[in-house]
Amino acid sequence: MAGCSGNCESCSSNCGKDNNDLHEPINKNSSVKHVIGVVSGKGGVGKSMVTASLAVLMNRKGYKVGILDADITGPSIPKMFGITHRAKSNGEEILPEITANGIEIMSTNLLLETEETPVVWRGPVIAGAVKQFWTEVRWGDLNYMFIDMPPGTGDVPLTVYQSVKLDGVVIVTSPQDLVSMIVKKAFNMANMMNVPTIGIVENMSYLVCPDCGKKMDIFGKSNIDALCDEMGVALLGKMPIDTNLAELADAGKFERNVAEYLNGAADTIEKL
Ligand code: ADP
Repeated sequence: MAGCSGNCESCSSNCGKDNNDLHEPINKNSSVKHVIGVVSGKGGVGKSMVTASLAVLMNRKGYKVGILDADITGPSIPKMFGITHRAKSNGEEILPEITANGIEIMSTNLLLETEETPVVWRGPVIAGAVKQFWTEVRWGDLNYMFIDMPPGTGDVPLTVYQSVKLDGVVIVTSPQDLVSMIVKKAFNMANMMNVPTIGIVENMSYLVCPDCGKKMDIFGKSNIDALCDEMGVALLGKMPIDTNLAELADAGKFERNVAEYLNGAADTIEKL
């Protein structure tokens, strides 16, 4: 527009540009068809486990998949896929690391001296790193990008919502988490940011006794079905506590996992 200074705050012109739209364009050599955030109201419920499982399942369906690990201070995605070396650059852009089966990954752990180096950064620096992963990483053309969001509803998740145009979020919870209002906080945050909730995954839902095969609700009886009904949100799946999954993740061999627990979730995501 002629005479546009780019400063919307001091301009009364009705040019059609949404002054509140802070979404950043993705890296200029990249395009992603569907961007899905994986969120949780608090840490430790298995958000990274669910992110990695969904990425593996969509990759197995034949799609090009990336994981942006926005859990900057607690990054666990590279280790789950056995990636320990540092990310490379082409001089202008950061290149994602690629797993054995071709999933692209970017995470702070790929930029630190060692994977044990702590990220002792202030909030704005952390938020800046997330934005850089979106704008400066050469993702190429992806069908699906999963963003392992920082837990909670604070500064950094807010930055992700504001700067990345998400198609939807998957909320991860665990049975004991549900007695609180934490799931609703995550759900309400997505609503406030005008991002649809694709559905909820209940992780650590139950345990199957390896000796007798009995299903045990070790965190008490889940009320996830009733909560999903109340909120009008789809229940995408229930993942049990599975020591095999945890062992594969710890050993960096996560892609070998069968991860069939979330097949239904992957089918829903495929239909987006
Ligand atoms: P978050 O991303 O929410 O902080 P993680 O995905 O890192 O949580 O999971 C926390 C820990 O619990 C990890 O050690 C992970 O391997 C383990 N874990 C998560 N989900 C399961 C599961 N369904 N079965 C067994 N271990 C799990």
